Amino acid sequence: MRIGLAGWLLLVVCGWLPVAAAVERADVVLLPGLAEVGLAPHLRYHHDADALDDTAMAWQRVDTGAMAPLPDGADAFGFQRGTFWFHTRVVNRDPDEPRWMLVQEYPLSDEIDVLLRYPDGRIVRHAGGDHRPFASRSVRYRHPNFSLDLPPGEPVDILVRVRSQSSMQVPLQLYTPKAFTEVSRDAQLAIGLYYGIMLALLFYNLVLWLSLRDASYFWYLCHVTAFGLVLFTLNGLGFEYLWPGSPWLADHMVPISICLALVAMLQFSRTFLELPRRWPRGNLLLLALMAFFVLFGIASVWLPVRIATPVASRAVLLGVVGIVIATIVVLRDGYAPARLLLLAWSMFLLGTAAFTLLAFGVLPKNFATEYGVQIGSALEMLLLSIALGHRYAALRHENQRITAEANQKLERKVAQRTQEVRSTLLQLEEAHARLRDSSRRDGLTGLYNRTWFHEAFRDLAQQAQADAHPLAVLMIDLDHFKSINDRHGHLAGDECLRWAARRIGRILRAHDALLARFGGEEFIAALPGHDMAAAGAVAEAIRHSLGDEPCVVGEARIRVTASIGVHVVGPGRARSVDDALGIADRALYAAKASGRDCVALAEPA
Ligand code: GH3
Ligand code: MG
Ligand code: MG
Repeated sequence: MRIGLAGWLLLVVCGWLPVAAAVERADVVLLPGLAEVGLAPHLRYHHDADALDDTAMAWQRVDTGAMAPLPDGADAFGFQRGTFWFHTRVVNRDPDEPRWMLVQEYPLSDEIDVLLRYPDGRIVRHAGGDHRPFASRSVRYRHPNFSLDLPPGEPVDILVRVRSQSSMQVPLQLYTPKAFTEVSRDAQLAIGLYYGIMLALLFYNLVLWLSLRDASYFWYLCHVTAFGLVLFTLNGLGFEYLWPGSPWLADHMVPISICLALVAMLQFSRTFLELPRRWPRGNLLLLALMAFFVLFGIASVWLPVRIATPVASRAVLLGVVGIVIATIVVLRDGYAPARLLLLAWSMFLLGTAAFTLLAFGVLPKNFATEYGVQIGSALEMLLLSIALGHRYAALRHENQRITAEANQKLERKVAQRTQEVRSTLLQLEEAHARLRDSSRRDGLTGLYNRTWFHEAFRDLAQQAQADAHPLAVLMIDLDHFKSINDRHGHLAGDECLRWAARRIGRILRAHDALLARFGGEEFIAALPGHDMAAAGAVAEAIRHSLGDEPCVVGEARIRVTASIGVHVVGPGRARSVDDALGIADRALYAAKASGRDCVALAEPA
């Protein structure tokens, strides 16, 4: 009993002794059925900022308990100098799983050394990280991984040394080989989906660019490609597939690809938002940002990654904020396609912010923060693609509006020209009518001339015959006109002719008559529907209208009389113009013969 108690006490004390601890104490117990365990809660660490410790010193720290638990249990430390040491003790209680996979679920760490110390003091060393050839990994996978020999029942010390220019993150996981296969398969599917979306967007927009030749599409393609490269690098796929033998590229491609992506993104925004035209000052701002990324991208070739990567990551936020400001300004200016763009940048900003805050150790690691960039950027690129479509539709709409406007203008012009042509035609017609009319008229009196009388009389005669109406013909000759000319001069004679024409016209106005100057001082009139009595009365009225008042020319009062011969073509009787005029003319001679200033009626045939 006393010995037993002493033995028990010894065991308890020894339990606190470092070497004896190897017998019983363990941080992680791998029980049967357990497939996966995150090591973060069980890790103790030491930050050797000047990288002075060697392995023996590290083991000494482990054995003297000089290591501290992870601050707040977080396995992300941000960008740090020197070496980090992590330790945990694992005992495997599952006799069916003698081998476990230790996976560093962050692909960018430069050097990871895993040291296993078995109870018999044997030490086994594994090396990984992207400063070691990809082919040296236990499983060809984007995350560094180590196949560990954990004999059941034996506590094993695991000491991990990490040195990296990139962000210090140690999301160490232990998996059974089966669990690791399944988890990595699911992760590959998710990543495959992401790059599938990117490739689809890339080819879709490539086709659009080739057919539409809109520069925005080209810069969108550059943006998607460069951004895809950033994520390919960050996911560890760049090291796996593109530069498996180049640790230099594995490190430097992070800041370089970020700069490339930002240059393309800024250029895309400038063309999409039509910044040079819509907001010249914003255009200058984005150009300045582009110049920065071009220069910094070149500088990244020589700068240490520990400096270049965090600066480039911070500048991403600066670039995106610049773009968001430009988008808001252009949107407030009424450029509708900018709305989707704003939404897209917001998605990207959120995702990137989450990832960046994770890298700096501000946010905890979870699906949303770890894949924030992927989720944000996939949504962003999808929205950008839609925004491009919208913009194209808006441009086409604008084109249609311009075409419609031009058509309307053209139509208005055509209508105007047609109107002008029509009015010109009308004027021509009027001029033509005036010309035709003037060719029918006598220049001195304005009455119809003899030629026109002949034509018009034929129609009147036909009409009278058709209607069985009489048609009267009056031949009017001014008396002794030669002597009026002789006494008062030809100009006074002309005035007398005009005066006589007006007076005869006035009498005939009520009779629907055709009046013409037949020649010299002779007039002729045709009166439809007048029989001999009626025609005789009209002739008498004319004679009185002339003879009763003198024609006043200047000082002279000239008496103008006329002799009138009257003939009536009887109803239903056809007569040629010449016949009718001949008979009227004979009647006129009769009037002259019987002393002038009188009316003579032709004898009925
Ligand atoms: P009668 O009574 O027999 O008709 O005599 P008359 O002098 O009127 O007839 P005659 O046929 O001998 O002369 C006609 C005159 O009319 C001759 C001509 O000088 C004149 N006359 C003809 N046309 C015009 C004209 O346009 N203007 C003027 N001022 N005189 C004209
Ligand atoms: Mg006469
Ligand atoms: Mg005469």
